[in-house]
Amino acid sequence: MEENMAKTGEKPEDIKSMTLPELEAFVTQLGEKPFRARQLYEWMHVRLASSFDEMTNLSKALREKLSRSASLVLCRPVQVLTSRQDGTCKYLFSLSDGNVIESVLMRYHHGNSVCISSQVGCAMGCRFCASTIGGRVRSLRPSEMLEQIYRIQALSGERVSNVVVMGTGEPLDNYENLLRFLRLLTDENGLHISQRSVTVSTCGLTDKILALAQEKLQITLALSLHAVTQEKRQELMPVAKRYPLEQVLSACRAYFEATGRRVTLEYSLVKGGNDTMEDADKLGALAAGLHAHVNLIPVNPVKERSYERPDRAHVEAFQKRAAAAGASVTVRREMGTDIGGACGQLRRGYQMKNNAGMGPETAAPSGSKEIDA
Ligand code: SAH
Repeated sequence: MEENMAKTGEKPEDIKSMTLPELEAFVTQLGEKPFRARQLYEWMHVRLASSFDEMTNLSKALREKLSRSASLVLCRPVQVLTSRQDGTCKYLFSLSDGNVIESVLMRYHHGNSVCISSQVGCAMGCRFCASTIGGRVRSLRPSEMLEQIYRIQALSGERVSNVVVMGTGEPLDNYENLLRFLRLLTDENGLHISQRSVTVSTCGLTDKILALAQEKLQITLALSLHAVTQEKRQELMPVAKRYPLEQVLSACRAYFEATGRRVTLEYSLVKGGNDTMEDADKLGALAAGLHAHVNLIPVNPVKERSYERPDRAHVEAFQKRAAAAGASVTVRREMGTDIGGACGQLRRGYQMKNNAGMGPETAAPSGSKEIDA
């Protein structure tokens, strides 16, 4: 980003996080006509430009002015892993401050879906999750959330139609930036992804779920439930101590009532932890009462933790039993198992290697491509 730093010492503006009216005010301040903002907006959000130099319908003088007063936030790919099984790609991106984040491109029949991170690390502490092991470093800016999608679309050359905010971080712990990101992502002047094609997953910050319900967006809310009793839930998810199960569920009901959107309940199945038939009965009843859809995810083993997944037959039995209560229950299809690892593990692996002072090529799995940043 150095080339974009203001020479005056003032902080360059993060123009990719600005709405079109804000950008209009910004270019006006620079002494330009407001229509220039539209061109700039299109370069950033539709044509996915990665430098001011590409913006050839802007005068050279304006491009120079912009490179002094504005920063064009970018995600630079440092590693890309491609699955030979299903084409799933995992991207490790570096940010301008040197932090790294990961994002995933999944190719489905109905279109491409990108899973993005909302924070560098995570403060929530879920016991089975690799993203939280080093804690939260910082929240991502709206531009940094958008960029994960933009760069993946530009690098793959394929249109992204669905976005899930299910990577590292707790999106509702970064609420204002998340909302701005959602508005920019779904803006008709930008990439214009349909609100219905966006899912935000939360571990259950009750107050923020209620606030989100009032925004009346048509996005899908996914709640990471993972247990049907308060006692079991707080064992797996320490954050549940602050947000009792009953309150979280009533916030989800409020979300459904305010938006008409069915909530998804995410349930990671942990062998001997939350996978009894009694758990399945309770989960089914609870989901049916909420008009929610259930997504079962056999837990992804994390090296640092001892959780195991139940076997396939058990997962199927659990699914049937939960569905018997009248709920719709699916088992999440696993993508890119050959480039494996649970969410957060690519970044963690990278950090471990770098801390150990090893070259990045040392532990690169098959199908991996290292990219010079
Ligand atoms: N903080 C948000 C979003 C990020 S986690 C949330 O909690 O929902 C995305 C999903 O992956 C959550 O449902 C989370 O509980 C789940 N998850 C994390 N680690 C996992 C693992 N090792 N195996 C299975 N699911 C996992």
